[in-house]
Amino acid sequence: MSETRETEILKIADVRAQKTCSCGHNYMSHMVSQIGQYTGWGWFWVLFGVTTEPVRVKFVCRRCSTVVGISEDPKILRRDV
Ligand SMILES: [Zn+2]
Repeated sequence: MSETRETEILKIADVRAQKTCSCGHNYMSHMVSQIGQYTGWGWFWVLFGVTTEPVRVKFVCRRCSTVVGISEDPKILRRDV
């Protein structure tokens, strides 16, 4: 997926608990990883290589591990798998 499209999705997605970490990154930053969180059954299927949708995605700074945003927006969840 192109970077432009990624940025466009992030712009229109519903991201809550937004903040800026101590190194100055927000959820749009390239230094921020998106970590999917699954239900118990979701993890089960992921272990077996089955693609499932996470229930939410946390935006975590790769440098300081601060959570700078949380999203349950299907626009993010669906394109992340
Ligand atoms: Zn940081």
